[in-house]
Amino acid sequence: MNGLLPPTKHKLHGKVAIVTGGASGFGEVTARHFVNHGARAVVIADVQDEKGQNVAASIDPDRCTYIHCDVTDEVQVKSLVETTVSLYGQLDIMFSNAGIATPGKQVVIDLDMSVFDRTFAVNARGMAACVKHAARAMREGGVKGSIICTASVMASRANPSGGTDYIMSKHAVLGLMRAASLQLAGYGIRVNSVSPGMVATPMMCEQFRTEKEVAMKMMEKFSRLEGVTTEKHVADAVSFLASDESEFVTGHDLAVDGAFVWPQ
Ligand code: NAD
Repeated sequence: MNGLLPPTKHKLHGKVAIVTGGASGFGEVTARHFVNHGARAVVIADVQDEKGQNVAASIDPDRCTYIHCDVTDEVQVKSLVETTVSLYGQLDIMFSNAGIATPGKQVVIDLDMSVFDRTFAVNARGMAACVKHAARAMREGGVKGSIICTASVMASRANPSGGTDYIMSKHAVLGLMRAASLQLAGYGIRVNSVSPGMVATPMMCEQFRTEKEVAMKMMEKFSRLEGVTTEKHVADAVSFLASDESEFVTGHDLAVDGAFVWPQ
């Protein structure tokens, strides 16, 4: 024996996961990855009920369930976590990913405060509620769980053209992740984040008002690596952070952006 573990095909074997925003984009592809990596149960939580139910059924109706949950409502978040634990016995992984992009430019001088409140309700407050209730369930179950939050390239930089509320909300995600990682380490709970670059998910296609293929072509300009960031790149990073392969990684923001660059 050389002390190295054999490569594990099913790195999430036996684990129970929640994926918020799992009806679309990163959440959908990551839920699929979790099942492919051997997760025992994956709960997709979203507000798009029909889409979420179809995604769960298409992944694996035996191991994937859909539960309606609006992350802006703490009662629903608490119930999501409690239902998951009562159905499957424990919670090992929370991928807190639900988020919205902002309509309009939202340069600070013209900032629409009602848009600001909505963005923060989902992207910051909703994220905090998910971390809070996942951590409670993990602590109560004695589970050394993994919580992963979706931040963004915009969590550590800004955009001269606008997006002020979105940028602020994603900076808040990093603050949440860092605070939670320190406060939960004593329970063996890890908290990390992923910061994707520009990816042609439904959110981005809506923002750019274009089809996926066209959006993907546009995204090529945003990375120094050749090609584009995809949902799979993000799901691979999240699966790593969710698994025991990252058992000593906490308080870390993992950029998945091919070395982001603003187009010239
Ligand atoms: P998406 O729109 O495809 O998926 C987001 C999902 O979140 C949707 O299914 C939506 O219904 C759900 N959602 C929205 N509000 C919700 C709420 N209140 N409660 C529960 N679910 C809700 O977009 P995506 O690109 O996959 O976005 C996922 C995450 O990634 C978001 O946090 C987003 O800010 C972040 N992100 C996206 C990009 C990108 O380029 N696409 C880059 C960096 C970060």
